[in-house]
Amino acid sequence: MQIIKNYVNGQLLDPFAGQYIDNVEPATGQVYSKIPNSDEHDLEQAVVAAEHAQKGWANTSNEKRAAILCRLADIIDANADMLAEAEAIDNGKPITLAKNVDIYRASANIRFFAQAITQFSSESHAMEVVAINYTLRDPIGVVGCISPWNLPLYLFTWKIAPALASGNAVIAKPSEITPMTAFLFSKLCVEAGLPDGVLNILHGTGPSIGGPLTTHPKIKAISFTGGTATGAQITKVTAGMFKKLSLELGGKNPTLVFADCDFEDTVNNVVRAAFSNQGQICLCGSRIYIERPIYDKFKQAFIEQVKQIKIGDPLEADTQHGALVSKAHMEKVLSYIELAQEEGGTVLTGGNQVTLEGRCENGFFVEPTVIEGLTNHCRTNQEEIFGPVCTIMPFDTDDEAIMLANGTEYGLASSVWTNDLKRAHRVAKEIEAGIVWINCWLLRDLRTPFGGVKSSGVGREGGLEALRFFTEAKNVCVKYG
Ligand code: NDP
Repeated sequence: MQIIKNYVNGQLLDPFAGQYIDNVEPATGQVYSKIPNSDEHDLEQAVVAAEHAQKGWANTSNEKRAAILCRLADIIDANADMLAEAEAIDNGKPITLAKNVDIYRASANIRFFAQAITQFSSESHAMEVVAINYTLRDPIGVVGCISPWNLPLYLFTWKIAPALASGNAVIAKPSEITPMTAFLFSKLCVEAGLPDGVLNILHGTGPSIGGPLTTHPKIKAISFTGGTATGAQITKVTAGMFKKLSLELGGKNPTLVFADCDFEDTVNNVVRAAFSNQGQICLCGSRIYIERPIYDKFKQAFIEQVKQIKIGDPLEADTQHGALVSKAHMEKVLSYIELAQEEGGTVLTGGNQVTLEGRCENGFFVEPTVIEGLTNHCRTNQEEIFGPVCTIMPFDTDDEAIMLANGTEYGLASSVWTNDLKRAHRVAKEIEAGIVWINCWLLRDLRTPFGGVKSSGVGREGGLEALRFFTEAKNVCVKYG
């Protein structure tokens, strides 16, 4: 059984209190490793190490920091197969997805921000003949990064890369549910020559280490990705502490399909948007609105394709749909399928737990599920399920589609499928979401602002937004003469 360790001051350490929790493989339901359940003592040690390391790291030139980070990205690429297998085992996601999406993006994140920091410039504001202002952007100091379980190494690196590139020291907490690739990553940091204490990784639960990390007085900024309720809790416990907060939270994303779309391409992509990673991507389109003239045709083609999705052992190369991340999460998803039927919905395909034979007989598998016949305001269409469940509904006009799309507390992402240029721009403008994809989904340019509105979050990640978040602006005003 593999024992995961914390990474503090360049060393792999056991937690002070010697407390461990079980790490379960979702595809088998078996405990396969132990995770430190770190507490305040581990945090204090990490904060001391981070404070000590930060000044030296901030004073290291951008080029040198970038070179170390690029080396780390190269080492991730060299270990991509090993990391993809670890991610598939730890999370339950198909290994092909882990390799092509998660691990590919982990190294891309690090390389992107390594390069970005060498191009980062600040503003200057001339007051005609009187004075000139220029803005300095200094690192914040010690910052905290907390990430969820759905895209473990992908989202972990998405946060720590800009934090490190801009000269901060980081204390990071991956999800206790999927800690393995962050642990393997800590070993790769040692290999890449990341200076001791610049990055510290503490494993454990939200209450034992996540909470203390957010309220530690020496941690001046928190970048958090996770559920809306946890985000609200973080804003509550940090109120009055004047920390910078970036909160990337939940979603209930609409997909708007217009009658003039490219039919086949749209069906293919709407299936992908609903069910990739077993529907456990914050950007998944779980509310699908279809213009009435093509509703029946689209529904039929959509269901046919959903039925073809291959459910299987995440470690098999041709598996398209793996296990849900935990038993508790599987039960939550199944309870929403039950709720949808109580609310008057009809399950068109799926709806059940799947029992596979052999190695995965005790795994947490649920069929891709499509439901119709629900109102927009029912709980199934309002609450984030975060699993392989989507609903389909007809609409008649552009205005109705926009109203339905905007009819939840969330506002993370959306996709619009149409060949009408004017309509595409108008709908994009009216949708309340941080991200609108037109005739595509999850097409990502890392320079673009990423984040949500309403209960989906506060602040933006990505590109210069992330570098701005992890730096403090200081204006210097110089009077002429
Ligand atoms: P959670 O909010 O449960 O957890 C996220 C992280 O926060 C985990 O590391 C968790 O630790 C930790 N945590 C839990 N409680 C606290 C606390 N009180 N203080 C500090 N940290 C805490 O989310 P999930 O892991 O369940 O992830 C799923 C959610 O993430 C979904 O709502 C999804 O939409 C959202 N998400 C949003 C994205 C975005 O970009 N907007 C992207 C991806 C996911 P632990 O789990 O170890 O207890």
